Amino acid sequence: MLEEKNYEPPLISSHCPAIVRLIQIKFPELVSNIVPIDTPLDITAELAKKYVSIKTGIEKEEVGVFFLTMCSAKVTAIKNPVGKEYSPVDGAISVAEIYDSLRKIVKKDIEIDQELVIPGSPGLGMGFDIMGCDKTGIKECVCLSVSGIDKAIKILQEIELRKIPQLEYLELYSCDGGCVAGMLNVQNPYVTQVRFREVMDSLSGNGSNYELLKEELPKDFTPQKITLSPRPIGGLSEDISNSLRKLGMLEKTLSDLPRIDCGACGAPTCRDFAEDIVQKRAEIHSCVFHLLNSVAELTGEAFSLAKKIPYVKDKTKTKRIDGSEDY
Ligand code: SF4
Repeated sequence: MLEEKNYEPPLISSHCPAIVRLIQIKFPELVSNIVPIDTPLDITAELAKKYVSIKTGIEKEEVGVFFLTMCSAKVTAIKNPVGKEYSPVDGAISVAEIYDSLRKIVKKDIEIDQELVIPGSPGLGMGFDIMGCDKTGIKECVCLSVSGIDKAIKILQEIELRKIPQLEYLELYSCDGGCVAGMLNVQNPYVTQVRFREVMDSLSGNGSNYELLKEELPKDFTPQKITLSPRPIGGLSEDISNSLRKLGMLEKTLSDLPRIDCGACGAPTCRDFAEDIVQKRAEIHSCVFHLLNSVAELTGEAFSLAKKIPYVKDKTKTKRIDGSEDY
């Protein structure tokens, strides 16, 4: 698209789901600037399924793709993709949850079937989670990378006012520092960036390039187009009494949320997320902070209930019926 210049600049990356939602809700005029094809994650998943299917003869529908994620908004995007009905990604696994177990396995020399490794894919593709790396895959254009939801809003306001006409491509991340700053990462984001770049560099001399990837792509592979449209603000219902009832529900839901507008749920602000819940487009446990609070409350309740478990007498000691002892 950049080469054909058949769009109104700048093109905006569709990589960050929270940014896509932000534009749909607060910058409807800029929706047409979002790259209208699948996200890099979904393209890779689709490609991986096709590739494995060709190499193994297993039906594409039988191949599962799971994303190791540092960002909880990506989990929401997999469950409720924007601009299409479903994501080819079958599930997401939090890096924080799998890191230790994976490290133990990776340390042992496990054998990887090289036939199933997509050639040319790892080096450049890994960069999508790091700020500034989109443009390494784009030939000569005026690109800008911005991270942090507040800064993203500011730059989008400037673009809306046509203050940066020379800009051709804009890469935006809701988390400060890019996806590596996601709350499901276990490592300091700056250290993660360095490690990612090291791995990317080590792979770049290993035949990781776009030309090689193009050669190996299944010939019938084309990225899926997505249709994005602005999302109406505040229109809770056409019926005024229903609208008022929903507004009350929205305020009540919002009062249960942390109001820190971190974007981790995939909505740009807590208020937008509360509206999504009221409109049944999201569930409250997609807010990780709310989920953690609920877990903490449940754990507290379980702990106090455990104390109420009746005692039974052991011959020598006092034991609870769950086996725990008093000293
Ligand atoms: S509801 Fe608010 S605090 Fe919770 S994940 Fe979404 S933006 Fe962050």
